[in-house]
Amino acid sequence: MNILLLLGALFALFYAIARHQIPFRTLALITLLFLVVFTLAGGFSFFWGLIFWATFLVPAVLLGLPHIRQQFLTRPLLQRIRKVLPSMSETERDAIEAGSVWWEAELFRGAPDWQLLQNFRLPVLSDEERAFLEGPVEQLCAMIDDWDITHKRLDLPPEIWAFLKQHRFFGMIIPRRYGGLEFSAYGHSAVVMKIAARSITAGVTVMVPNSLGPAELLLHYGTDEQRDYYLPRLADGREIPCFALTGPFAGSDAGAIPDHGVICMGEHEGKKVLGLRLNWEKRYITLGPVATVLGLAFKAFDPDGLLGDQEELGVTCALIPADTPGVTIGRRHFPLNVAFQNGPNSGKDVFIPMEYIIGGQQNIGDGWRMLVESLSVGRGISLPAVGVAAGKASARATGAYAYVRKQFNTSIGKFEGVEEALARIGGMAYMMEAGRLLTLSALDSGEKPSIITAILKYYNTEHMRQVVNDAMDIHGGRGICIGPSNYLARAYQSIPVGITVEGANILTRSMIIFGQGAIRCHPFLMKEMEAAMTDDQDDAEASFDKALRGHAEYFVTNYCRAFVYGISGSHLAPTPYPGRIGDYYQRLGQMSAAFAVCSDLVLMVLGGSFKRKEMLSGRFADALGYMFYASAVLKKFDADGQPRSDLPLVEWSTKYCLYQVQMALDEILRNFPIKWLGVLVRHSIFPLGLNLRQPNDSLSHRVAALVIRPGEARDRLTDGIYTTDDPDDLTGCLEDALHKVIKAEPIERRLRHDEVEQHGLEDYQQWVDRLKKSQQVTAEEADILLQARAATATVVAVDDFTSDEMRNKMAATKKATPKKRATNAPQKKAARKTLKKKPAAQ
Ligand SMILES: Cc1cc2nc3c(=O)[nH]c(=O)nc-3n(C[C@H](O)[C@H](O)[C@H](O)COP(=O)(O)OP(=O)(O)OC[C@H]3O[C@@H](n4cnc5c(N)ncnc54)[C@H](O)[C@@H]3O)c2cc1C
Repeated sequence: MNILLLLGALFALFYAIARHQIPFRTLALITLLFLVVFTLAGGFSFFWGLIFWATFLVPAVLLGLPHIRQQFLTRPLLQRIRKVLPSMSETERDAIEAGSVWWEAELFRGAPDWQLLQNFRLPVLSDEERAFLEGPVEQLCAMIDDWDITHKRLDLPPEIWAFLKQHRFFGMIIPRRYGGLEFSAYGHSAVVMKIAARSITAGVTVMVPNSLGPAELLLHYGTDEQRDYYLPRLADGREIPCFALTGPFAGSDAGAIPDHGVICMGEHEGKKVLGLRLNWEKRYITLGPVATVLGLAFKAFDPDGLLGDQEELGVTCALIPADTPGVTIGRRHFPLNVAFQNGPNSGKDVFIPMEYIIGGQQNIGDGWRMLVESLSVGRGISLPAVGVAAGKASARATGAYAYVRKQFNTSIGKFEGVEEALARIGGMAYMMEAGRLLTLSALDSGEKPSIITAILKYYNTEHMRQVVNDAMDIHGGRGICIGPSNYLARAYQSIPVGITVEGANILTRSMIIFGQGAIRCHPFLMKEMEAAMTDDQDDAEASFDKALRGHAEYFVTNYCRAFVYGISGSHLAPTPYPGRIGDYYQRLGQMSAAFAVCSDLVLMVLGGSFKRKEMLSGRFADALGYMFYASAVLKKFDADGQPRSDLPLVEWSTKYCLYQVQMALDEILRNFPIKWLGVLVRHSIFPLGLNLRQPNDSLSHRVAALVIRPGEARDRLTDGIYTTDDPDDLTGCLEDALHKVIKAEPIERRLRHDEVEQHGLEDYQQWVDRLKKSQQVTAEEADILLQARAATATVVAVDDFTSDEMRNKMAATKKATPKKRATNAPQKKAARKTLKKKPAAQ
C-alpha cells in the first residue's frame, strides 16, 4: 500500500514536471515536503528511506546550493568542456550560424507548442502567380517534348529558350522594379514543381538562375550599380547566369577551394585600376556552357599589402562576364543523360576590377557567409520542389497505369504486392508536399530556417528516389524501355543529381542537420560553448553556471516528460484536440521528449568528439527530420479543412514518420557510447517497449485504392502538376485510358459473369463484333469496350527502333503506337536480326 502511494505520488510529481517545467527550487521544496510527511507518517522502511532521501539530497545539494554547485560541478565541467570543445574553423562557424531556427527548435526541445504550429499560415498563390502558372507555365509544359530535348538536341529547343526569356522565367526572384516577376518562395516553388514534373532539363534550367547564384547574391549583397545593371538583364534573359563554386579538388568541402585571386593593379577599359588577378578551375557548373555571366567563388590574397596588413582575405564572390580575356567556358558534362547545360570552366590570369566583386571591395572575404546564408533559403525551394514533382507525377501516372494495366485478368494495382508500393508512393508524395508547404510558409514569412531547409532538401530528394523506384517497379518493362513515350526513365536517371547538388545527401544527413541543429536548437548548448570560450575566468564561470542550472532543469523536465508520456502510451501528452488525429499529436509529443533526452545525453557524454560520430548524427537527423514531416502532415491536414477522403494519406504518412523516429532513437540507444546507460535510458523513455508500428496492410490498401482511381483525394494529392486528358499527350493518355477502362468495367463484369470469353483465335475486335452480332452487347457498349481496349493499348505500348535509329543515338524516332505494334511483328523480327548482325559486320 505504502509503496503504491509512494509510486503514485512520484508519478504525479513527474507528471507535474512534464507538463509545467517546474523550477528547481519549487521542485526541491515540494519533494522535501513530501518526503518529510511520508517519513513522519512511517511510510518508509529504513532501507527505502535511505535510498529516497539520498536520491533527493545529492542532486538537491549539488544543484541547489550555489557554492557547492560552482565548486563541484560548474568549475570541473567548464574545465573539461574547454579541453574537449572542438576547434571550429571560421567557415564552419559561418555555416553553423547561418540562417535562423524555427519550428524544428520546438521539436528538438521536447515540448512542441501545438498552438504555434496551428498559428502558422500555409502559403497561398497570389493572383499573378496563379495566372502565371495557368498561363505561361501551362503553355511551356504543353510545348515540352522531353525526348526531343534529351535525345535529339541535347538542349532545350530555341523556341523554348526564347519563351523562357520572353515570359521572364529567369526573373522569378527579381523584384518588379527591375523587370522581374517578384514571386514568393511558394510561387517560385510551384513553377519549378510544375515544370520539373514534365521535364527535368527544363526544370533545372529554370531553377538555377532563380536559385543560389548571381541574382540572389546581388539582391542581398550587391551594390546599387550592380543591381541596376544586372538585375533587369537577368530578369529578361539577356544575361544567362551560372554560379561556379565546385572544382576538381573541392566538392563537399567547398571552403577548401584552391581557386584564388591576388590583389594587384591591372588594366580595365584602358585605365590602370586596383583589382584582382584570378586563376580558377571549376567543374559541374549548371548553365556554365551557355552562361554570359559567371558568379565565381575564389579565395582572395593580398601578398603585397595593397589593402592592408592581412594577407589571406578569405572566400570572395565576383560576377565575371564570360567574354573577359582569360576565361575558358563552353565544354559540357553530360549528367546522366539529362540534357541541361552543365560543364567545366576555368580562368587563367583573368584581371577583374574591384567593382566586379559582389557588393564591391568592402565584401572581399565575405563570400562564404554570403553563400551559406543564401543556401539556407535556396535549398528549401528548388530541389524539394523537384522531389514533390516526382512524387506527384509518380502517384498520378503510376496510379493510372496500375489500374489500366491488367494481368491475371485483374488491374495490377489491386494485387497486394503492388498496393504496398503504391501506398509508399501516395504516402510519401503527401508527406513531401506537406514538408514543402510548411517550409515555404517559413520562407515567405521572412525566416531563413537553415536546419529545416537542409532536412527538406535531404528527405525530399531521398523520398523522390524511393517513389521513382517504386514507380519503375510497378511499370515493369514499360518503365525500362526508353523512348518518346516513356515518361519515367528520365526522372529515374536524374535522381542522383538532386541527391548530390546543393549539399551532397550523405554529408547533409550525417553532418549538417543534427550538427547544426544541436548547436542552434538546444536552448543551453550554445550558451555553454560561448561561456567556455570566454577568456575571463570569472565571467566564464558565472555565465556557465547560469546556463548549467537551466540545462539541468531542461534535462530533468524532458526526462520526466519522456517517462510519463512513454508509460502512458502517450495519452498524457498534450494534444490540440481529441480523437484519432489528436493521438498522432500525442505520439509526436512523446517522440519529441524522447529525442530531447537522447540528444542531450549523447552530447553530454561525447562532447566535442560527437563531431566524428556521423552514424549517430545521421540517426538524430532522421529522428528530427521525420518529426518535422509528421508535424507538417498534421498541419497540412488541418489547413486543408481535414477532408475525410485524405485520411488514409494522412495516417499512412504520419505512422510512417513516427515509426522512423522511434527506430532512429532505438538505433541511437543501441549504439549509445556507454552501453549500460543506453539500456537504462531505453527502459525509461520507452517503458512499454517500441510500440509504434508501420502503416498496416489495411491502411496501405486504402492509400493504394485512392491512388489508382479518379477522385478528389487523388486530385488534391497531385495538385499543381501538369495534367491533361489528351490521349495524344505523353501522360494524358493514361488519364484518358483510366476513364475509358473504368467505363468499360461493368460491361466486362457482366460478360465474365455470363462466361462470354474471348475465343483463343479471335482478336479483341473480332470478339466484340461477335458479341454485338449475337446481341450480347449493344453497339454503344461495343464502342466503349473497343475504346477502352485502344486506350489501354496506347498506355502499354513501348517504343522500338531500327538499328540505324539506335546507332544515330535514336535521333529520328517515332512514338510507338498500338497500331504499329499490331502490324509490325515481321519488321520487328527483321530489326532484331539486324541488331544482332550489325555489330559483327562493323
Ligand atoms: C549535375 C550537377 C550540377 C551541379 N551544379 C553545380 C553548380 O551549378 N555550381 C557549383 O558550384 N557546383 C555544382 N555542382 C557540384 C555539387 O555541388 C558537388 O558535386 C557536390 O558539392 C559534391 O561534391 P563532389 O561531387 O566533389 O563529391 P565529394 O565532395 O567528393 O563527395 C563524395 C561523397 O562523400 C560524401 N562526403 C564528403 N564529405 C563528407 C563528410 N564530411 N561526411 C560525410 N560524407 C561526406 C558526400 O556526401 C558524397 O556522398 C553540381 C554537380 C552536379 C553533379
